[in-house]
Amino acid sequence: MANDTGGPRRVAIRDGVLTEPLDDLGRVRLQGSRCRHCGEVTLGRNSLCPNCGGSDLETIPLSDRGELWTYTVVRHKPPGDYRGPEPFRPFGLGLVELPDGLRVMSPIEGDVDSLRVGMPLTLKVAIHHVGPSGEDVVAFAFAAES
Ligand SMILES: [Zn+2]
Repeated sequence: MANDTGGPRRVAIRDGVLTEPLDDLGRVRLQGSRCRHCGEVTLGRNSLCPNCGGSDLETIPLSDRGELWTYTVVRHKPPGDYRGPEPFRPFGLGLVELPDGLRVMSPIEGDVDSLRVGMPLTLKVAIHHVGPSGEDVVAFAFAAES
């Protein structure tokens, strides 16, 4: 299935983690699941609540803004099929606290020396790499509000 621009098919880097369609990346949000029993919100499209074990969950779009709850700086290139820039550059990896009531692990774009706990962040959705069948793989990160 081609998208509206006639380009390659687009898929989320992890099934269910982004809202669809993926045609207009500026409108794509993280997707979560909210338990109708206990209210727990988790990242992605899930069928079981990790808090109460309930199975009555609804998918919801998550906020595109959050705060950096804590982070680390990855200074060594991960092994395997790491697809970041070459040569490798250190990058921030953070837990982003969303107002929806969950924290999401995410790459944090920008200068690693500018990262601060509590800084406001905005979701960035972009094509990350080309998959094995020529599809565009869409991934997310957070970056400082500009
Ligand atoms: Zn629950």
